[in-house]
Amino acid sequence: MTAANTAIRLLDVHRHFGEVRAVDGVDLEIADGEFFSMLGPSGSGKTTVLRLIAGFEQPTSGTIELAGKDITGTAPFERDVNTVFQDYALFPHMNVLDNVAYGLRVRGVKKTARRQQAMDALAMVRLEHVADRKPAQLSGGQRQRVALARSIVVRPKVLLLDEPLGALDLKLREQMQVELKQLQRDLGITFVFVTHDQEEALTLSDRIAVFSEGRIVQLGSPSEVYEQPVNEYVASFVGTSNLFDAEAARAVLGAEGRFALRPEKIHLVAPSASAGGPQAKGKVAETIYLGVGRRVVVDLEAGPQLVVLEPSTTEAAVKRGDAVLATWRTEDLVRLT
Ligand code: ADP
Ligand code: MG
Repeated sequence: MTAANTAIRLLDVHRHFGEVRAVDGVDLEIADGEFFSMLGPSGSGKTTVLRLIAGFEQPTSGTIELAGKDITGTAPFERDVNTVFQDYALFPHMNVLDNVAYGLRVRGVKKTARRQQAMDALAMVRLEHVADRKPAQLSGGQRQRVALARSIVVRPKVLLLDEPLGALDLKLREQMQVELKQLQRDLGITFVFVTHDQEEALTLSDRIAVFSEGRIVQLGSPSEVYEQPVNEYVASFVGTSNLFDAEAARAVLGAEGRFALRPEKIHLVAPSASAGGPQAKGKVAETIYLGVGRRVVVDLEAGPQLVVLEPSTTEAAVKRGDAVLATWRTEDLVRLT
C-alpha cells in the first residue's frame, strides 16, 4: 500500500479509560475503496476504534491519518468520514426525504439539488416510494436503509458502519449484506465495518482484522483468517474448529504442537476402507441435521472428540454408533502458535 491509496492509517493507537485499555496498541492501514471489517466479541474495542477514526473519541496516544494526513485531534466535522450506527438515529419528526437530505442542508446545498441528490440516494437503497413517510412508519430494515442513504448522500470518502445490521432478523440481514456489498462496489467508498458476526465479516470483507482485548490478533483476507488462523482464539472465534492441544496432537496426529482442523475438511469413511494419509478411528456419538448438511460428532479411539461437517449430498449418512474412519489432508491441518 502506498501513501497515495491509503484511506486510513492508525499508528500505535491507544485509548484507555482509567484502567481499561479499550484500544491497546492498534496499527492499521486501510486502502481506498476497501471493504474492511473489524471482527471481535463484545468489549474487544471495535466501536472505540471506529469512534477514534470518526473523531468522537481522542486517542490516549498514537496517530490517526486520513488520506495521508495526520488528523489526530481534529473535530469530527473536519474529517471526511460518515458513520452509520446500529440504532439508526433518524430524526422522528422529519420525513424520509428530509432525513436523507439533512447532511446536504447542513452543507448548504440548494433545495432543488438537495431533493434530487436525496432521491438518488434513496433510489440506491430502493426506497424512493417511502420518501414522504416518517421513520415510525417504516420497518426496521427500511429504517436501516434510510440511515445508509443518509450517510452516502454526502459522498464521504470513508463510511464507518457499527454493527449496522445487528437489529435486523436473519433473512433481512442476509439481504442487506448483499445490498451493502453492491453499494460499496458501485460507490467506490471505503467501508470500515464493525461486526461480532464472523459469517458476516467473511462474506462481505476484502480484509478482516480480528480483535481481542483492544488488539488486532490477526489481519488478513477472509480466506486467510479462516484457513490459516494464527492461534486458538481466531480458530475458534472465526467459524468452528477442532482444536488439538499438545496431548491430543500427540495421540491423534502423532505430532508435537497445537493444531486446528475445520469440520468440513474431515471425511468419514468405513473403517475397512483403505485410506492413505492422516486418519483416526472412532465411533459416531451424535449426528445433527442442519439442512445444508449434517454435523457428526465422533468419539476417537485415541481420546478426543471430532466434529465433522458432512454435506447433505453424502450418499450414505452415518448413524449414531457406527464405527468410522475420519480422514483429512495433511495441508488442512493448521498449526497454531
Ligand atoms: P466493542 O465495540 O468491541 O464491543 P468497545 O469499543 O465498545 O467494544 O469497548 C471496549 C472496552 O472499553 C469495553 O471494556 C468497554 O466497557 C470500554 N469502554 C468503551 N467506552 C468507554 C467509556 N466511554 N468509558 C469507559 N469504558 C469504556
Ligand atoms: Mg461495539
